[in-house]
Amino acid sequence: MTEPLLRVKDLVKYFSISGGLLAREVDRVHAVDHVSFEVAAGETLGLVGESGCGKSTTGRCILRLIEPTAGEIWFEGKNVTALDRGALRALCRDMQIIFQDPFASLNPRMTVGAIISEALIIHKLAKTRGEFADRVVQLLETVGLQADHMRRYPHEFSGGQRQRIGIARALAVEPKLIVCDEPVSALDVSIQAQVINLLEDLQQQFNLTYLFIAHDLSVVEHISTRVAVMYLGRIVEIASAHDLYSRPLHPYTEALLSAVPIPDPTLKRQRIMLQGDVPNPIRPPSGCRFHTRCPIRQLPLCSTEVPELKASTDGHLVACHLRG
Ligand code: SF4
Repeated sequence: MTEPLLRVKDLVKYFSISGGLLAREVDRVHAVDHVSFEVAAGETLGLVGESGCGKSTTGRCILRLIEPTAGEIWFEGKNVTALDRGALRALCRDMQIIFQDPFASLNPRMTVGAIISEALIIHKLAKTRGEFADRVVQLLETVGLQADHMRRYPHEFSGGQRQRIGIARALAVEPKLIVCDEPVSALDVSIQAQVINLLEDLQQQFNLTYLFIAHDLSVVEHISTRVAVMYLGRIVEIASAHDLYSRPLHPYTEALLSAVPIPDPTLKRQRIMLQGDVPNPIRPPSGCRFHTRCPIRQLPLCSTEVPELKASTDGHLVACHLRG
C-alpha cells in the first residue's frame, strides 16, 4: 500500500482557559480530541461538521499555525510535529492554506502583485523584477484574473475575486497540499460553484491534494473523494463521498444529510431535526459525545462507553455502538 501524503495520528488540541490572580489554567476547551485520518496524494478529503466542532483547528494544527497539544502529523514521511522552525518554513512551501474570509486574509495596504510576490520572495522563487512580474501575471491568469489586476488593492475586488487572489497566493509556491478552510462559506451561492470548479480544475492541472473544510455537506459533495464528519472534536464517520451520501451510517451524518436539498423536486427527504444544541466543548458529554442529541441512543451504553471509529465495509469507518 502506498504511503499517504498526509497522516494525522491521534491529534489533540486543548485550549487553556486561565483564571484567578495567578492566571492558572482553570479549564480546557476540548477542540480536537484524538483525531486520526489519512489523505492520499491527489485526493480531496472533505472535513465537515457544525461550527466549533474542531475542523478548522485540525486544519491549522496540520500547518502548525497553532501548536497541537498531542498527536502526530506526518507529511511525505516527515513528522511535522517534531520539526523546528527552520525545517517547518521549508515545509510551508509544500503545504498552503486558503482562508474562509478572503478580505480579512489579504493585507489591505498591499497591491495584489505584492501579496502574491511575498511568498515568491520568502522562498526565493524568482530572481529579477521581470521574473517576479511574469510569475504574478501567470498566477493571476491561472485563477481567472487579469494581468492589470496586480496593481490594484484588495478592496477593489468582489468576494469571489478576492478568493481567487487567495488561491493565486497559495499556488505561488507550487504546494502539494492545500488546506481549504471554508473557502466558499463567505461567498454568494452563485459564486461558490465557480470557485469550487476553479479548485477542481487546478487540482487536475497541478496534481494538488486538498483537505477541504466546510460546515455544509452539500458544498463538499462534488469536490471530495472521501468525506470525514466531525462532531464536538471527534471524527464520527469517514467514507468515500459516494458511500457517505448514499449510505450514511452515523445518526449525526444522517441528520446533516437530511438538511441537504435534493435537486430533483419529485424526490423528498425527511428532515431530521436534532434536539438541543451542541454541548459545551469545555465539558463534553461522557461516552459517545453525540448521545445527548442522538435519536437512537441506547442508555447506559451510549453515555458510558466511547465508541471507536471502526471499519464497516469498503473502508467505511463509523464511531457508533449500534451502526457499522
Ligand atoms: Fe447514537 Fe449511541 Fe451511536 Fe452515539 S453510539 S451515535 S449515541 S447510537
